[in-house]
Amino acid sequence: MAPPLDLGPLARPVRRSLNGEHPGEVGTMLPPLIDHHVHLMIIGPDALRDTAIAGVVDLGGPLDTISAYARRSGVPRVAFAGSFLTAPGGYPVGRSWAAPGSAREIAADAGDGRAALPSSVETAVSEQLAFGASVIKVALNSATGPVFDRATLETIVASAHAHGLPVVAHVEGEGMSRLAIDAGVDAFAHTPFTERLDDALVASAVAAGQRWISTLFVAGYGEPTPATAIAVDNLARFRAAGGRVLYGTDLGNGEQPLGVNPAELELLVDAGLAASELIASITEVWPAAVATDRHGIATFVPGPPPVSVDDVPRWLATARVVAVEDLEPYAGRPASDRAASDQPGTAPEQPGTAPEPPGTAPEPPGTAPEQIRTDHLEPQ
Ligand SMILES: [Zn+2]
Repeated sequence: MAPPLDLGPLARPVRRSLNGEHPGEVGTMLPPLIDHHVHLMIIGPDALRDTAIAGVVDLGGPLDTISAYARRSGVPRVAFAGSFLTAPGGYPVGRSWAAPGSAREIAADAGDGRAALPSSVETAVSEQLAFGASVIKVALNSATGPVFDRATLETIVASAHAHGLPVVAHVEGEGMSRLAIDAGVDAFAHTPFTERLDDALVASAVAAGQRWISTLFVAGYGEPTPATAIAVDNLARFRAAGGRVLYGTDLGNGEQPLGVNPAELELLVDAGLAASELIASITEVWPAAVATDRHGIATFVPGPPPVSVDDVPRWLATARVVAVEDLEPYAGRPASDRAASDQPGTAPEQPGTAPEPPGTAPEPPGTAPEQIRTDHLEPQ
């Protein structure tokens, strides 16, 4: 008998309240699920309502549009970067998917000594902050256009940090990961997918406390492309060295299910993440503004817990957002013990009060993931 799968400290066996819609349904409670990389300017503000995603981090769009979305009530909660900060003419200027105002071009400081005036960098960072951004996004895509020099990038990082904001970078093209790591960038919007990072560089990213947002699926849209292989290899070594991985999909980029994308999670399994690490990656509150704990919501995953890490992606894809008060501790055996102690060949334990066996009758509406299709097939 295989040992029970360790889902980590965040997972708790629960059943749904006897007063609610699905009385007695047994499952697992998790913190709210967060997609750490989406683009609401493409998918719209309501695309993730009624999915399992309770928080999103919007990593690029017009400030006025995205900040208005973020002020709306309900779930998912929205934290955002605002505009892509980029070099003049740099990515994503001119991209069809980038709504006007998505990119904020910043010229290198002239170095004319007028230090009493706010620099162009300080002005741009302050603009994002004034609209409520909680992370600053920089685009470093040398494959398609000009990028910041090291000094300008360091100034952006320093300015963001002075305001308490982390910096997340889109890195694409030779040397861009190294530039970002050396300049103190806090996170990558995508696992680097255009070049293999050597182990020393990966180690320096880990030592700097970087977080990497996964977006492995959009490296190949489900096909095993060279970019997917590069990204999975980079992420595997980053994770093995102790790096912090955040689940993110770049939703709005290509065709992906609305909600949890099991294919993204499957690629994280390929990169070596254990079940508890998968759960940590999709529940970590980063940046702080995406916190949903004040809103009284949790994640409920119906049915018995998975017994293999390979089952975790499909299991998580059946999750839903529920009110915390709809859940109560399950007094039966802990979910983590059940797999080990069940008799071979018997069904998972069913509480006597449950009107339906756990896991056999998922809610009919919304269980088939809707797909969202866009023409924007490029990591953004
Ligand atoms: Zn993106």
